[in-house]
Amino acid sequence: MLSKKTKELTTQNDCSLIKKYRNFAFIYKAKGIMDLIQEINKLKKEKNAIILTHCYQRVEIDEVSDYVGDSFYLSKMASKTNADIILFAGVYFMAQSAKLLSPNKKVLLPNLKSGCIMADMIDVENLQLFKNQHPNIPVVCYINSTAEVKALCDVCCTSSNAVEVVKNLGEKEVLFVPDTYLGSYVQSKLPDIKITTFNGFCPTHLRIRKEDIELARKNHPDALILAHPECHKEVSKLADFVGSTKEIMEFSKQTNYKKYIIATEKGVVDRLNRDSKKENWGKEFILINENIICPNMKFNTLECIYETLKTENNEITIDPEIAKKATRCIEKMFTITV
Ligand code: SF4
Repeated sequence: MLSKKTKELTTQNDCSLIKKYRNFAFIYKAKGIMDLIQEINKLKKEKNAIILTHCYQRVEIDEVSDYVGDSFYLSKMASKTNADIILFAGVYFMAQSAKLLSPNKKVLLPNLKSGCIMADMIDVENLQLFKNQHPNIPVVCYINSTAEVKALCDVCCTSSNAVEVVKNLGEKEVLFVPDTYLGSYVQSKLPDIKITTFNGFCPTHLRIRKEDIELARKNHPDALILAHPECHKEVSKLADFVGSTKEIMEFSKQTNYKKYIIATEKGVVDRLNRDSKKENWGKEFILINENIICPNMKFNTLECIYETLKTENNEITIDPEIAKKATRCIEKMFTITV
């Protein structure tokens, strides 16, 4: 179920965006990808803009990016930059988080259609209902949530620091929204804290089944299997390592295996294979199942990045009252983690 805001944005912008991008696509085919990269870099300089890119984006977007990483890393970069414009190559909640952490900067999202399906599973109404069913219990929300939802939660977390946040909160009982699987993973690490999870999930990570892990073990007995905690708990249980995008990338660089099976979004595998080739690691990274692609993450293209930077359309704005409360929720995460 999409939240009201995302539904509005999606309907308003769909048709005009498609028409615009069709025209641009024609021009860019003729100009060539290298010209396009040059034009984007020129615009960035002229406008004092930076591009923050999530690891699930199309890999060619890295060519124009200043920072590439997971939500946590990118939020930190957003809060530190001196740029006037932040273009966020990612999904809607990520651009909102960048705006919360850099309220005086112009934050642009190349394609307003790129919402996160998991984040849109919870909105203000069903969060309120969930809180009413479990009164007086602090709510921890995964960063994959809208500013409106964050504004009603006590502290935010990412997949890298979820265990640390829940532990450092010092409560005997917490509510965890929206991802039930990340919540269950945290519960497995902190058995003394009672964690009640909302029933949201990431449909992309949920496409990975325990049978995929069993097949990968049979076909690649020499490989290590690394999974994201948004995966189903049966998958996490069978993996050799469970960690956030950043942790998966670091772990695979630091360990000495020749082959890794990656149970998360394809963009991570593309980047690992590119870097392995470029830097001669002699390692191979295999996507657990060829369908692990987040469609919303792939809406952004070099073409729409160019157009957004040129026109400065698709600016993210947040109601000041909501922004104040949501920022408090994110900042609390920074104060209780290292
Ligand atoms: S992969 Fe899942 S959690 Fe990440 S943006 Fe896509 S739908 Fe949202």
